[in-house]
Amino acid sequence: MKKRNIIGGIALAMLIGCTSIADKNIFDPNSPLAHHTATGFRNLYIDDSQKAGFFSFIFNVRFKEDWPDEEKLRLNPPTPTVPVNLPKIERPPSHKIQTTWLGHSTVLIQHQGINILTDPMFSDRASPVSFAGPRRYTDPALHIEDLPKIDAVVISHDHYDHMDEATINALGNSVHWYVPLGNKALLGDNGITNVTELDWWQSAQMDDVKFTLTPTQHWSGRGLFDRYQTLWGAWAIEFTATDQRIWFGGDTGYNEIQFREIGDRLGPFDLSFIPVGAYEPRWFMKNYHVNPEEAVKIHQDVKSEKSIGIHWGTFVLTSEPVTLPPIELKKAAKENGLSAADFITLPIGGTFVKSSDKQYPDHSLQ
Ligand SMILES: [Zn+2]
Ligand SMILES: [Zn+2]
Repeated sequence: MKKRNIIGGIALAMLIGCTSIADKNIFDPNSPLAHHTATGFRNLYIDDSQKAGFFSFIFNVRFKEDWPDEEKLRLNPPTPTVPVNLPKIERPPSHKIQTTWLGHSTVLIQHQGINILTDPMFSDRASPVSFAGPRRYTDPALHIEDLPKIDAVVISHDHYDHMDEATINALGNSVHWYVPLGNKALLGDNGITNVTELDWWQSAQMDDVKFTLTPTQHWSGRGLFDRYQTLWGAWAIEFTATDQRIWFGGDTGYNEIQFREIGDRLGPFDLSFIPVGAYEPRWFMKNYHVNPEEAVKIHQDVKSEKSIGIHWGTFVLTSEPVTLPPIELKKAAKENGLSAADFITLPIGGTFVKSSDKQYPDHSLQ
C-alpha cells in the first residue's frame, strides 16, 4: 500500500469524520429545535448513530475500492474547463442572474450589482494540513485576487472542501459572511467579525438580498472529536427587488421531507446549485451525499426552474469515476421527465446567464 494513500486516507477520514454521537432520544422532527442536541446538532430523518466510523471507512472504503488516482488526473484533468470570461464578470448584466462555476462548490453569483460567493475554496488541498489530504486535480477557474469585489459569502458547513481557512483569510472582513450556527467561532479565530450566524429557517437581509439558511441532511466536523458540533445547511438567496430566488444546496443526502418543505416555504426557485458528485459507494455515502438521481429529485422538490450540478470534477472524495456525474445526471433528468436544459453542468470557469420573464423595475436605468 502506498504511503501517500495511507496519509490521504487518514486525512480524508478526518474530513469524513470519525466518531459517532448516538442520541436516541425520542424527538419531534417538526419542533423548531428538533435538530439541536446537548452537544451540537443532528439530522431529523436518519439515525446518525448508524454512520459508518473510522475503521469501517479505512478498511472498506479507502483501500478496498478502486479510487480514481488524483495525481494521474492532475496531469490531464478530464473535467471540461474554459477560461473565465473576465469582461463578463467585471460588467455583469444587472437585470439577469449571472453565475460562474469556479470549481467544486464555489460559484460566483452576480445580480443587481451584488456579488456573492458560495463555499469559496481556492486552495490546493481540502485538508487541515498542506502536505496531505484530498488534492484538487483541476485548478480554480480564477485566482482569488482576480475576483470582482465580493459583497457576501455563504458557507454551507465546515468540511474542508467547503470552508477553507486560507481562502477565508484572503477574503477576510471585506465581505459579509453568512454561516450556519457554530461556525462564527472559526471565522473569529481568523480575526473575521463581519459574520451573520443563522439557525435553520432564520433569515438575514443585506440591502435587497435576503439570505435564509435551510436544512439539509449532512454532518459537520473538521477533526476527530467535533463531529456534529456545528450546524450544516443550504442557502436560499432572494433578491427581493427583482423577485429572483436562488438556492445553493451545499452538501446533502436525500429525504422526501426536507426539500419539499424548502420548496413549499421558500420556492419556487429560479435557479439552484445542487451537488451531483461524491456519492459512491452508496452503502457509505447514501445518507449524506446525493447521487445525480437524488439531485434531480431535489431539483423537483424545491421547485427549481433550472439547476446546475456542482461538487464534482475538482477533488477525488469518493470512488465513482470523476467524469460520471454529468453522464448520470443527463440520464436521471431524462428518466424523470426533465429536458436536458432543466438541469445542466457547466465547464469549470463557465458562465451561465439566467434570463427571466418576470417584470420588475430596471434599477440600472435610474
Ligand atoms: Zn460535507
Ligand atoms: Zn463536500
